[in-house]
Amino acid sequence: MADQDFPLIFELSQESRTGFSLPDLDVPEMDAEDMIGSSFVRNKAADLPEVSELQIMRHYTALSKRNHGVDSGFYPLGSCTMKYNPKMNEDVARLTGFSHIHPYQASETVQGALHLLYDLQQSLVSITGMDTVTLQPAAGAHGEWTGLMMIRAYHEANGDYGRTKVIVPDSAHGTNPASATVAGFEAVTVKSDERGLVDLEDLRRVVDEQTAALMLTNPNTLGLFEEDIEEMAAVVHEAGGKLYYDGANLNAILGYARPGDMGFDVVHLNLHKTFTGPHGGGGPGSGPVGVSAELEPYLPKPILTKVNNQYQFDYDRPKSIGRVKPYYGNFGINVRAYTYIRTMGPEGLKKVSEYAVINANYMMRRLQEQYELPFDRHCKHEFILSGKRQKKMGVRTLDIAKRLLDFGYHPPTIYFPINVEEALMIEPTETESKETLDAFVEAMIQISNEAKDNPEIVQEAPHSTIVSRMDETQAARKPVLSYKKGETE
Ligand SMILES: *Cc1c(COP(=O)(O)O)cnc(C)c1O
Repeated sequence: MADQDFPLIFELSQESRTGFSLPDLDVPEMDAEDMIGSSFVRNKAADLPEVSELQIMRHYTALSKRNHGVDSGFYPLGSCTMKYNPKMNEDVARLTGFSHIHPYQASETVQGALHLLYDLQQSLVSITGMDTVTLQPAAGAHGEWTGLMMIRAYHEANGDYGRTKVIVPDSAHGTNPASATVAGFEAVTVKSDERGLVDLEDLRRVVDEQTAALMLTNPNTLGLFEEDIEEMAAVVHEAGGKLYYDGANLNAILGYARPGDMGFDVVHLNLHKTFTGPHGGGGPGSGPVGVSAELEPYLPKPILTKVNNQYQFDYDRPKSIGRVKPYYGNFGINVRAYTYIRTMGPEGLKKVSEYAVINANYMMRRLQEQYELPFDRHCKHEFILSGKRQKKMGVRTLDIAKRLLDFGYHPPTIYFPINVEEALMIEPTETESKETLDAFVEAMIQISNEAKDNPEIVQEAPHSTIVSRMDETQAARKPVLSYKKGETE
């Protein structure tokens, strides 16, 4: 699949070649030092690549073709919900009334945008069953931290300063213990039992008067619905703790169950997963947080209110934890989520979780002969396999993931969750057809057969990509992200 027309040459610069033409200067020339001060004036021309317009066009187009995105192929990356992002959302987000406004504009001049945010908040209130929602947090983990800061403020307002611990199951998303730590709590682990669900005995053991909250990822990272939520809620609430729902993966229960009805005090959502915000490359995202009435006074400020049919921001919030983001959240992602919710409607949203769950169960059952299924029970939107059997034949889960590239797929999440050996975490999403799911299953079956008959082909994969195995540590620790003349090749 290597692009023949684009060899691996990165340095295309030729002295004096240009790809731009600027109009002649038609204003009086000014002295740069007078304008910006001498310390900011370059004394040497910047080392920029000197290339023609056609070269630069081909360069970026070729790079874009090497990228695997959800618009180019199946992307079953567990936990990330790489579903299709309808292009209509993009059209709406680009309407000039939304894209050309400024956060410093007076609220009277942006009533339409505020109306949209207000309605989105109300929709998320109905979807989650919480009393109020803030749209400020910019990502899931940011929402977690915001929620925990509100829980802390709540306890402190009650004079309850001894609640220093946040309980996090070992099947939680990795951001949960991290957010608890960043919010100044001690993260205490509670174990899963042989069902893959929170071990209630262990929970009773760790909950005490120091418990600030339990953070529950549901469905958990094994893709399983926590069946004992009511008991868990009772144990934590009786001890005076609050219940936090990690709802990043709400696409598993949308329209069927609501965290508010389960007794949760705080929930965050990932609009850039469940509600079709694109989320490649690390953002921007949106991680709204819903709270029960008891926690409402602590919401980040300002909050958006509707008074006499006018939308405005209320800054008079003495108990607020303060602002958690400049301006009012990632507005463009919120527009996309709003568009998605309105185009799907309540019935459509219900279908989303139906299909997400049916697709995952279908694939899980088709693959369980070849791959070990550590928790043999119905899954929600994603499922976990283990590559243990293949490992005995000398083929690691990493090799399986690399081999999938040869079939044109983005691999699933691997080696996570950490409580499953050689884990493969597969999330098909609801937007894929049965043909796509079947083709992926066939590829996985073929790889499993290769592991038996021809392990080298898997161990040495990928064979079809422009570079094969990379030094992933170096790529993460020392990425080369900018052009430096003569240093890239
Ligand atoms: C993705 C995810 C998060 C973190 O969301 P970010 O937007 O990446 O910070 C938290 N919890 C769960 C269950 C997730 O899947």
